[in-house]
Amino acid sequence: MHIAKRAAEISPSLTLEITAKAKKFKEEGRDVVSFGAGEPDFNTPLYIRDAAKEALDKGLTKYTPASGTLALKKAVVDKLMRDNGLSYKTCEIVISNGAKHCLYNVLQAIVDPGDEVIIPAPYWLTYPELVKLCGGVSVFVETRVENGFKLTAAQLQAAITPKTRALILNNPNNPTGAVYTKDELMSLAHVIGKTELVVISDEVYEILNYKTGIYSIAAYSQKLKEQTVVVNGVSKTYAMTGWRIGFIAAAEPIAKAVAGMQSHTTSNPNSIAQYASVAAYENPAGQAFLAELKASLDRRRRLIMRELDSVEGLSYIKPEGAFYIMVDVHKCFGKSARGKKIDSAHAFATALLEQGDVAAIPCESFGAGDYIRLSYALGDE
Ligand code: PLP
Repeated sequence: MHIAKRAAEISPSLTLEITAKAKKFKEEGRDVVSFGAGEPDFNTPLYIRDAAKEALDKGLTKYTPASGTLALKKAVVDKLMRDNGLSYKTCEIVISNGAKHCLYNVLQAIVDPGDEVIIPAPYWLTYPELVKLCGGVSVFVETRVENGFKLTAAQLQAAITPKTRALILNNPNNPTGAVYTKDELMSLAHVIGKTELVVISDEVYEILNYKTGIYSIAAYSQKLKEQTVVVNGVSKTYAMTGWRIGFIAAAEPIAKAVAGMQSHTTSNPNSIAQYASVAAYENPAGQAFLAELKASLDRRRRLIMRELDSVEGLSYIKPEGAFYIMVDVHKCFGKSARGKKIDSAHAFATALLEQGDVAAIPCESFGAGDYIRLSYALGDE
């Protein structure tokens, strides 16, 4: 069977292997504790579920405009002004099937074969695969532990070439939990502003920011705003991962290109989910939910750090955002666990699951081979 090169080149996910094994163990009755999940354990708030029921009862079950309903675009425009101080027009917003779909669309819209996309490492494992799908070249820039895993202006400057098309900046970061301060973003913006590259600013964990206030790099200047594609959505913020709603805010030519492609690939995002997402952003009940979500994840962040502090041989960089902590396990390499040699993060995570019934994600495919990632978006117990 012939499989096209672009599909054949997609890397199999080590993450899936561990999560599939954890699932199998659970089905066999083992008491597996899973630190793998990339989603909060909260249910979608009632006011959002009610809005979805209302949409069904109103018969809002038909196609919507391909780039999203006007009501949701307006809610997004208001959100961007309220939370980020950013002024957009509805024609600069495109609603898609989750932030992941937004990222795919944007890269397809701006990257030609051979173009370079700068990705600070460690990174969310999907980014390089999406770059591959448009024939682009990922340029990984290793961030340093001593900089809290954050890209510096000097590193960015050194990575830019005439072929650079875009930078993917994920803040707060999956998997490191790093959060850029406003000053750090401004120094990156200073470098970017002297070029024509596009910043794809993945802000899906924006609200889960335990130290600094919310700041989008797009707010630096009018030029930066035009160069930035803000990517965000309701998945992580409103515990709506399964609803599949994300958005981009971008200069009109990019928004138009994305909307055109989307009209031929998926048509519109789900009509009921769009209606529910309007409620997510606009209903005042949202503020109380966000405060509760953030407080509970912050409590779990502190708890997991306290527990890890008591384990000899492990260390971590204090996470300041999202709901992940990266644990350095390299000191265990060369040792063995009940006869199984530990020579990689993958071997460590496999032994941890097989022998300890604890699922964690090895970070080789996140560009951080010495680490495993624990998600603390699960119950305190
Ligand atoms: N961006 C980052 C950094 C993520 O970690 C994720 C999900 O894990 C996404 C985007 C995708 O979000 P969505 O569920 O809205 O597609």
